[in-house]
Amino acid sequence: MLKLSMTDEPKKYIQIGPFRYEFTRTPPETDGEPDLGGTDFESLTISVTDDPKYNPQIIAETVLHEIIHAVLYTTAYHATFTDQEEEDLIRTISPLIYQAILQLKDELFDNPS
Ligand SMILES: [Zn+2]
Repeated sequence: MLKLSMTDEPKKYIQIGPFRYEFTRTPPETDGEPDLGGTDFESLTISVTDDPKYNPQIIAETVLHEIIHAVLYTTAYHATFTDQEEEDLIRTISPLIYQAILQLKDELFDNPS
């Protein structure tokens, strides 16, 4: 049976404004330091852990978190915050936006009509 490796899978992208970010999954951390996701504004890469120990809800919220980083970068708000201010802002709003939009999940995503 032919098994496709990760490199054979088509790349996934997230378009944010003028930039097309490559979306990648990273292998589980081995140093014990949780690193759920990251956004690289130079290579235009958004990466999120592929560690199966994390519930998909945590992964999805992490994707939203990284998308907000990219949105702030694209809109220049990135330059108005220190790294810590930006991280604090996103850690505050991302889980709340995620929770709010999930309340309409069935209506928005699981409705076949
Ligand atoms: Zn962050």
